[in-house]
Amino acid sequence: MRADIFNELACQDRPASAYDIAESLSARRGKRVAPNSVYRILDLFVANNLANRIESANAYLVNTHPGCRHDCIFVICDDCGSARHLDDDRVTGALRQAGQGAGFANIRPVVELRGLCGDCAA
Ligand SMILES: [Zn+2]
Ligand SMILES: [Zn+2]
Repeated sequence: MRADIFNELACQDRPASAYDIAESLSARRGKRVAPNSVYRILDLFVANNLANRIESANAYLVNTHPGCRHDCIFVICDDCGSARHLDDDRVTGALRQAGQGAGFANIRPVVELRGLCGDCAA
């Protein structure tokens, strides 16, 4: 089940929701797969750094750079739904500092930018 879900996620060219994955997996297996069990496994992938969660799209993406030690920033296209990742330690460093200044510990910046990708803007 885990391997199937991972393969399904890896086939997607843009962030996919647990429902998307459950639907295509159900079609492939000819048997209904519950989105709830897909959710649990996707969150497990995120916890193990195998996948990233795109909060603003409620969707998941295979982690193409599991060794990244930066706080990843995602840019997501409002039109085609594609997502790219970038690292900018100045931005996320400032956010971490702001959080620490507010008395928070174990800070994990979640930064997402929405807009139009180069293809859609052209
Ligand atoms: Zn990164
Ligand atoms: Zn686009």
